[in-house]
Amino acid sequence: MTDQQHCPGFESNKSLSAIKVACPACKAEMELFSDEIDKQVTCPKCKVSFDPKTCKVEGK
Ligand SMILES: [Zn+2]
Repeated sequence: MTDQQHCPGFESNKSLSAIKVACPACKAEMELFSDEIDKQVTCPKCKVSFDPKTCKVEGK
């Protein structure tokens, strides 16, 4: 029942900030939401798993 009100792309955007990280293996940059920073992420390019907290890109 409650699932009928689910609206993709609406709830997920509020109060989350985007964090830029770079893959330690291939240096590909990607953006994560702040609720994903505590998990391992997998690089979409080279499929390496890494800890985004250690790979943040701090501006340029
Ligand atoms: Zn990579």
